[in-house]
Amino acid sequence: MFDLTPEQQLIRNSVRELAQGVIKSRAAEVDRSEEYPWENVQLLVEAGLMGMCIPKKHGGAGASYLDAVLVVEEMAKACGVTGRIVVEGNMGAIGAICAYGSKKQIDRVAPLVLAGDKPAICITEPGAGSAATSMSTIAVKKKDKYILNGVKHWITGGGVSRVHLVFAQVVENGERQGIGAFIAVRGEDEGMRIGRREPAMGLRGLPETEVIFENMEISADMALVPPQGLRRGFGGLMDAYNAQRVGAGTVALGVAAGAYDTAKEYMKTREQFGRPIAEFQGLQWMIADMDVALESARLMLWRAACSGKNGFPDPLLAAQAKLLASETAVKVTNDALQLHGAAGYSRDLPLERMVRDARMFTIGGGTAQMLRNLIAGHALDMKTPQTRDGYSRLAK
Ligand code: FAD
Repeated sequence: MFDLTPEQQLIRNSVRELAQGVIKSRAAEVDRSEEYPWENVQLLVEAGLMGMCIPKKHGGAGASYLDAVLVVEEMAKACGVTGRIVVEGNMGAIGAICAYGSKKQIDRVAPLVLAGDKPAICITEPGAGSAATSMSTIAVKKKDKYILNGVKHWITGGGVSRVHLVFAQVVENGERQGIGAFIAVRGEDEGMRIGRREPAMGLRGLPETEVIFENMEISADMALVPPQGLRRGFGGLMDAYNAQRVGAGTVALGVAAGAYDTAKEYMKTREQFGRPIAEFQGLQWMIADMDVALESARLMLWRAACSGKNGFPDPLLAAQAKLLASETAVKVTNDALQLHGAAGYSRDLPLERMVRDARMFTIGGGTAQMLRNLIAGHALDMKTPQTRDGYSRLAK
C-alpha cells in the first residue's frame, strides 16, 4: 500500500543516522536536566528538518506530511522531545499559518521557524480543556488592533518558543464573532508573560507553561482567519490541527518503536535458565504482539498523513490513527520495560523514560476519550454533543 519513494527512503536513512548518533546520545541528559535541547535544534536546522513542510516559495522544502512523519518517527525513536520539536516545526501552528495566512503573516513567521523556532499553539485554559470552545481568552477589536486578555496553560514551548498562535473569543462592536487565532511573537509583541512551569511526568526537555496575556495589542493583520470565516473559525483552525494530531501520534509510535528495538536486542543477550530469554515462547509472543501493534499504528498514521483536503489530514483518519498510536505506545513501552526485568526499571536504561514520554499522547492534543467521541459520531453518523442539554437542543 505504501511504497516509499527513493527520496523518502533517503530521508529516512539519513535522519536515522543522525537520530541514532548524537541525538540518542543526548536523550537521557535532556530528560535529566529538563533543559530545552538547543543543540539538537541547531542540528535539525542544519539538516533542513525545521520548516521542511513550508512551501518552497516561502523558503521551505515543500515536503509532504508523510515526509515529515518519517522524520518524526526516526527522531522520536531516539529522543521523544526532539521528535515533538520536529512536529511543531512542521505540522501545527506553522501549517495553519501557511494554509490560511496572508503573505505578510507567512513572511513574518516562516523565517523564524526555518531558523529553528518551534511555534507554540495556545488553546487550553484552566477552565477549558476538552471543552476548548468554552475558552475565556478574549480578543476585543479596537480600530486596527485586537486587545488580548486571558490565561492559557500546558503550553508546550512556553518560554522557549517565539511564535505563538493564540486562540481567543473575538469581540467586535461589543458582539462575539466566534473563535479566531492571533499570531504573536515573544520578544516583539508586548503583553505576553510566561507563568508557572508544570513539573511534567515525561518529555521533560520541553517546558509546559502557563502563558498569560495582559492587554496584548495585536495588529489586525496578524489575525488568522480560516476561509470559513470567524463564525466557523474554530472548526477551520481545528482542520489544520489534524496534521499536528498525526504528528503527535507519530512521536508516540517512535518512542514505542525505540523501546521495542531496545527490548529485542536485550532479549538476545540476557540469559536465564541457561539460555537467552528470547528463547522463551511467552516473550516471543509479546514481541509478536508489539510488532503487529506498531505496524498497525504506522499504517494508520501514514494513511492519515496522506489523506484529506485543503492540505490537511482527514479529521476521522487523524483521530483514529492518533488514538491507536497513543494507546499502543503506552502498552508497548510498558511491555518493553517488562522484558528487561529490574534493569528496565532502572534509570540507567532508557525504558522508564520511554514509558513516561509515551504517557502524554492519550491526553495532549485531544484525549483518547474525546477522540472516541469524534469517531463514534462518524460511525453512528450522528452529532454527539457533550453538553448536558446538547441532545435536547438537537431534538427541537
Ligand atoms: P479535561 O478536559 O479536564 O478532562 C479530564 C478527563 O475527562 C479526561 O480523561 C477526559 O478525556 C475526560 N473527558 C472530558 N470531557 C469528556 C467527554 N465529553 N467525554 C468523555 N470524556 C471526557 N494545550 C495547548 O493548547 N497547547 C499545547 O501546546 C498543549 N500541550 C500539551 C502538552 C502536554 C504534555 C499535555 C499533557 C497537555 C497539553 N495541552 C496543550 C493541553 C491538552 O490539549 C489538554 O490537556 C487536553 O485537551 C485535555 O484537557 P484537560 O487536561 O483540561 O482535561
